[in-house]
Amino acid sequence: MQWLRRLFGGHSEPPVMLFHVRCNRCGAVVQTRINLYNDLSVEYDDREEIAGYWIRKEMMDDRCFRLMTAELHFDRQRRLISQEVIGGQMITAEEYAAARQAPNERASN
Ligand SMILES: [Zn+2]
Repeated sequence: MQWLRRLFGGHSEPPVMLFHVRCNRCGAVVQTRINLYNDLSVEYDDREEIAGYWIRKEMMDDRCFRLMTAELHFDRQRRLISQEVIGGQMITAEEYAAARQAPNERASN
């Protein structure tokens, strides 16, 4: 399975984070990619110093086409510290791959 190996093996380069969500309504999974250097906005603290970074990302699954909105916050080292997904929930890369392998059986938990 070429695509699976690519999913797990090929994306360890630091600037890009793969991000996976499952739609709350239909259970479809979506993968999106965030460039940690180009896509993030700076978040400042009270003293106008850099507190961290954040991004709001909209994505849509290919089953019910409902828009999901993710808001991710990162610290100054661009490590993920909090996440919220409206309309869906965050899943792991493994859960995403499993759901893509059996798209019809894994519609809900
Ligand atoms: Zn959906």
